[in-house]
Amino acid sequence: MAVLICPVCKKTLLKSDISMKCENGHCFDISRKGTVNLLLSGKARHGDDKRMVDARKSFLDKGYYSPLRDRLTALAVKYAENGCTILDCGCGECYYTADISAALPGCEIIGIDVSKEAVNRGASRHAGICLAVASVFDIPLADHSCDIVFALFSPFSGSEYLRVLRPGGIYITAFPLENHLFELKQAVYDKPYRNTVSPLEVEGFTLIENSECRFKAELTSNADISALFEMTPYCYKTSAADRAKLDRLEKLTVSAEFGIAVYRSITSL
Ligand SMILES: [Zn+2]
Repeated sequence: MAVLICPVCKKTLLKSDISMKCENGHCFDISRKGTVNLLLSGKARHGDDKRMVDARKSFLDKGYYSPLRDRLTALAVKYAENGCTILDCGCGECYYTADISAALPGCEIIGIDVSKEAVNRGASRHAGICLAVASVFDIPLADHSCDIVFALFSPFSGSEYLRVLRPGGIYITAFPLENHLFELKQAVYDKPYRNTVSPLEVEGFTLIENSECRFKAELTSNADISALFEMTPYCYKTSAADRAKLDRLEKLTVSAEFGIAVYRSITSL
């Protein structure tokens, strides 16, 4: 059973039917979906809204990114031991988390995301995941309580990963490579740019494995093309005129190109 900690005083949260409470009386309601909101008011961060979550769920459910999902689940199976605890930081609506959970029924799977909408959808996708609305910069888990941390396309929070991982724990990440979705950018921008890929070195971790996952996704409807564009970090920065170029596009083949890196933690901070 995953042990969540109070975001206020960091004491263990104990679960009742309707809430989670620490010994100091800080109390957090459990939603009808079984998720708990541990974001403190005033500290709330912008998470994906309902429209973005719906677009992403609809796109991912069609299987366009299943090659990546399969690779990530295979890595979870490779590094997990029976009974171990796996945290998915920025789990979204649990497309990847649910597949990992299904493949590892003997493990404890926890997902956190700042988007309440995404977390509630995640609860519908797979019942076996412990889900909380929380920030990756303030993870509601005790020190050294996790064996594996996944952080897929979420903001990097290295010191928190090191804190919650046991010494020698595993950190797995995926990130877009230079030409990821270049065709989508070509369709929108006059001067499409390539992604910048950060160096693989991460303080506090040793890189033990890295690979690439490249495949083509053949989008066959305007709804899917729009949904994919909604998922990109540059969507909000795009002018209405550029965005409108997608309106009449019904077919597009895009290159999906991801880097995947696996690290072992060297020590705790
Ligand atoms: Zn407390």
